[in-house]
Amino acid sequence: SRLDHIRNFSIIAHIDHGKSTLSDRFIQVCGGLSDREMQAQVLDSMDIERERGITIKAQSVTLDYKARNGETYQLNFIDTPGHVDFSYEVSRSLSACEGALLVVDAAQGVEAQSVANCYTAIEQGLEVIPVLNKMDLPQADPDKVAQEIEDIIGLDATEAVRCSAKSGLNIEDVLEDLVARVPPPEGNIDGPLQALIIDSWFDPYLGVVSLIRVKNGSIKKGDKIRMKSTGRDHLVDGIGIFTPKMTATGELCTGEVGYMVGSIKEIHGAPVGDTIVSTKFPDVDALPGFQKVKPQVYAGLFPVSADDFESFRDALDKLSLNDASLFFEPESSDALGFGFRCGFLGMLHMEIIQERLEREYDLDLITTAPTVIYEVLTRRGDVLMVDNPSKLPDPGTIEEMREPIAECNILVPQEYLGNVITLCIEKRGVQIDMQYTGSQVALKYEIPMGEVVMDFFDRLKSASRGFASLDYSFTRFQASSLQRLDVLVNGERVDALATIMHTDSVRRRGAALTEKMKELIPRQMFDVAIQAAIGNQVVARTTVKALRKNVIAKCYGGDVSRKKKLLQKQKDGKKRMKQIGNVEIPQSAFLAVLRVD
Ligand code: GDP
Ligand code: MG
Repeated sequence: SRLDHIRNFSIIAHIDHGKSTLSDRFIQVCGGLSDREMQAQVLDSMDIERERGITIKAQSVTLDYKARNGETYQLNFIDTPGHVDFSYEVSRSLSACEGALLVVDAAQGVEAQSVANCYTAIEQGLEVIPVLNKMDLPQADPDKVAQEIEDIIGLDATEAVRCSAKSGLNIEDVLEDLVARVPPPEGNIDGPLQALIIDSWFDPYLGVVSLIRVKNGSIKKGDKIRMKSTGRDHLVDGIGIFTPKMTATGELCTGEVGYMVGSIKEIHGAPVGDTIVSTKFPDVDALPGFQKVKPQVYAGLFPVSADDFESFRDALDKLSLNDASLFFEPESSDALGFGFRCGFLGMLHMEIIQERLEREYDLDLITTAPTVIYEVLTRRGDVLMVDNPSKLPDPGTIEEMREPIAECNILVPQEYLGNVITLCIEKRGVQIDMQYTGSQVALKYEIPMGEVVMDFFDRLKSASRGFASLDYSFTRFQASSLQRLDVLVNGERVDALATIMHTDSVRRRGAALTEKMKELIPRQMFDVAIQAAIGNQVVARTTVKALRKNVIAKCYGGDVSRKKKLLQKQKDGKKRMKQIGNVEIPQSAFLAVLRVD
């Protein structure tokens, strides 16, 4: 039957282990694109993703594969992101699949993020098929890595295909393995429609486009459908697949994955995780949606120009359509005016959202220092969630401050174990477990989330020459000794520069912060005093000395193009500056706290 010839799968891989290269090979083998169209890393469609070499948004590709048994199979490949910040999206992509390829770099071995994603796949009932990639590398050690997969994940990898996405070695064997081992989808082709929205995004020409997986029945162009969550009816304007080009097919049947366009203009009309049913059978049950993920990092984002506030809101609305983890609510700051307090999964997520806002929506934004969310018990017995240091109640009214704790799973080769443990201790970590597997050590630590989300990942990488890997998740709030550090610029407290820090390091960090800000705030026509304070007590102070000469005057008589360049540079710099009192503060100074240990 038709279902027997469909295979829906995802690829689980740590960043750089070769997921994009392998998917491009699949597209090539199955002839999805002509050579001319076959540009590098087709699946990573957003500019930012391409530049950063990561995949953020789930995308899909439908390929026809002529197997060695002579039969043609429809392969629906749903892409998953590989970065620790985005693990929630993995579970979302997996829910559309019956199988997953676990791609492991045969020269690197297993990484913590892949382990976590594998467990998610196994929990969701998927068949996980290990593949050893990069066999062309002389350092490839497939036997050792196969053993590691067995030791750490518990999957037998002795028979795993050993391939090279780069050279093309054994790519068809991977596809054969997929066809043989991934179960075909189940469902009732003749039953009433039930389709799951895996992803939705806003297209300026088409309106809302959704990536859907049909669980039962079929959906055709011209059908009348109902969204379970909104109860609204829509006409299906377009149905098709990604080959990876958007290709209209007019129909998607049970087991298939593709896109739907339904003249849905309002942004929240097709939320991710929603169920699409037919208006003929509107009482069909909704499918289980996706677990809501909570942001871990909060920051204020403010348009440099107040006129941009409404377009900023509109942009956030559009971005949040396919990013359920993006939280935002209006915020006003004495220093920065009107903006939004935004919640993100992690620092990378924050950077990506900020970049997309600036690039795709042409906004100039100032971002304040990111913070985690704190639980505050007041003397009166109220429990407050504080995602903004400047909103912390008066210390005299606080009974107890609690910080979020992350459970961190780290995989590290033995030779770097000492360095990694030192780092975990420095970050106030508590060891929960340590297991020696083949060549890597599996560590479990509880570390304050505030320490984890900031620079822990980068520090871990440098402590292990890039070999350690990390997966983390929130566990609970725990009482801790925390204080707010304020920053005063020329005697004025700047709300947007406040941070919450652990008592043990607040003075040291306060001193380092004022030093850093002194480097980052450009010299003005007058002295600028920068102070760090805890309550009314100033704990550190620096001064940005006044400029002696007019910068432009220096250029008179010099060559004109140099002067023009200088003016242009100042203008560009100005875009990301904010006037606080009579002092211009650049974006970098708002984030200076990230650069002090
Ligand atoms: P992703 O982050 O998992 O999508 O990984 P990419 O597909 O972007 O690959 C990361 C890097 O590894 C790129 O420089 C690829 O050219 C390289 N790469 C991928 N597969 C292979 C392979 O089989 N052999 C070698 N030598 N390099 C590979
Ligand atoms: Mg990639």
